[in-house]
Parts: sequence; structure tokens; C-alpha cells
Amino acid sequence: ATMPPLLSAIANAGRHGVLVKSAVVMERLGQVDTVALDKTGTLTEGTPRVTDIRPLAGSDLSEDALLALAAAAEHPSEHPLARAVVDAARTRGLDIPEVRDFDSAPGTGVTATVDGAAVAVGAPARLLDGATDTHSAEAAALAEELENDGRTTVLVVREGVPVGILGVADRLRPDAAATVTALKALTGTAPMLVTGDNPRAAARLAAEAGIGDVRAGLLPQDKVAAVREQESAGRKTLVVGDGVNDAPALAAAHTGIAMGRAGSDLALETADAVIVRDELATVPKVIALSRAARRLVV
Ligand code: ADP
Ligand code: MG
Repeated sequence: ATMPPLLSAIANAGRHGVLVKSAVVMERLGQVDTVALDKTGTLTEGTPRVTDIRPLAGSDLSEDALLALAAAAEHPSEHPLARAVVDAARTRGLDIPEVRDFDSAPGTGVTATVDGAAVAVGAPARLLDGATDTHSAEAAALAEELENDGRTTVLVVREGVPVGILGVADRLRPDAAATVTALKALTGTAPMLVTGDNPRAAARLAAEAGIGDVRAGLLPQDKVAAVREQESAGRKTLVVGDGVNDAPALAAAHTGIAMGRAGSDLALETADAVIVRDELATVPKVIALSRAARRLVV
């Protein structure tokens, strides 16, 4: 017997490096008319590097001490930024202290107890939350300076007091711009960028990728709201993401695709399809495969 078109399309998608979880998903992929792309790990390679280590003037910390403190708190996290911080500390040969009470807030950062001190590491805009004391003001100014250079920034807070900022840079995937162009051609609409990162770094990267519609500073539920806004305008949205913070949007979307290589388990489980070969350019390919199969089904 010849294989039904949707099943051959699944096999074909597999050869392109995309695991499509069912025939229903294979069919739905071709209906998509709007695409929302996550930034870190989706549009970027997801292997960010620490580029700047800036203890605040008012702190007693050296660069190494600041980095070791941040690395300790980040050690249990699977977030790409956490891996960047831990790798930087290891590269410098630093001792990374054990932590207790680790917790993470998707889209915001992490908290832990390091050497008896409460430490928070995460998005400056969220952790500072408009505070105007001298340490907070110094941290906010430093973060803004680095963000204007396109950096993602991470604030380190010890016992409630900001002590330093780390700058992190990630590269655009080599196939990002071509993927954006292909998605525009297939769906008739330019894809949008949905990210928890700061608006300055997001705008810089979006421009490199050819994306004009940028939604930055989003919490996981804000990504869901962006999807719902499209759906209530009658659009069928494909979300592509990798993080724990993307899981609610992957679930809310008409169709969700997760980046497999560095994607979080939650994103992989929640998504309808998984990119196994780590090429973003497979997204327009599977949409085209779905459409071709649907023509054969009807
Ligand atoms: P994206 O949507 O681009 O994938 P996330 O929502 O995962 O980004 O993160 C948004 C922001 O929250 C990051 O830019 C960072 O400032 C902060 N953040 C999240 N998780 C962490 C973490 N483990 N360590 C440091 N900062 C974090
Ligand atoms: Mg991400």
C-alpha cells in the first residue's frame, strides 16, 4: 500500500530533522499564517558568552568574586544565560561555591543562598523594578550602557543590594535571516519576535534578522497574550521556542515547535513538533511539506 500523504510528510519532515508528533500536527502546520519566534536559543545560537563583568563601584567585589557569586546561583539552572555564566567562571578557573534554596522564575532569573547570603541573578528591569537608591541607579545606568551595545544584561543582587552587572552576547543563527524571508513568503506576514530580553538587545537582533515587529521584556504569560491577540484577530499562530518560559505560549499557539538541541524538557514535551537537527530553516520547510501533503489529501 502507498503511505497516506500526511504520514509520508511526517517521514519527510524527519529526514529534514524535524520530529512531528502526529498526523494532525502535520496537517495543522500548513494552516499557519503568523509566526512568533523566541529570541534566545531560537533566533540566536543559544550559546551566549559573558562579555562584560562589572562590579558596582559601591560593592566590595572583584570581577572574579562577582562572577563566582553569579555562577554559584546559576549553577543549578538549565537556562542558556546560566550556562554562559558558569562557563565563564570555569574558564577563569574560579571556585563555584555550593548553593542552597535554589529557585528559578522563568523570564526573570534565579535565587539561591550562597555562603549564607541571599543572592538573586536575573533581568535588571525585573529585579530593580524602578528602585531609585544609589546602587540601583548605578546598576540601571550600567545595564543601559551595555544594552545599547546590544548586550543581554544580568543583574547580581546580594542580600537585597545590587552588586554588579554581567553583559552577555549571543550570535544570530546563520540561517535566521533566510528563515525570516522564507516565512514571510510562505505566510504573507512578517514573523514577530517575542522575548523576555531587554528591548534594546531585542531590537538590535531583530534588525539583523529582518524582523520589524518586536515584543520585548515579556514574561511567559505575556507571550501567551501575544498569541491570543493574534488568534482573536482570526490568525493561526506558530510559536517557535526553546525555554521553560516559552512552554505556555507553545501550548496556547495553534501550533508549537521547540528547538531540540538545547531546548528545555518542558518545551520539548509541550510542543507539537521538535527541531532535532538544530536548523531554524527547517521551519518553513515543514510548513511547505504540510501544504503539499494537504493538496494530496483533498
Ligand atoms: P527569551 O524570551 O529571549 O528566551 P527568557 O524569557 O528566557 O528570554 O529570559 C528573559 C530575561 O530574563 C533574560 O534576558 C534575563 O535577563 C532574565 N533571565 C531569565 N532566566 C535567567 C537566568 N537563569 N539567569 C539570568 N537571567 C535570567
Ligand atoms: Mg529562549
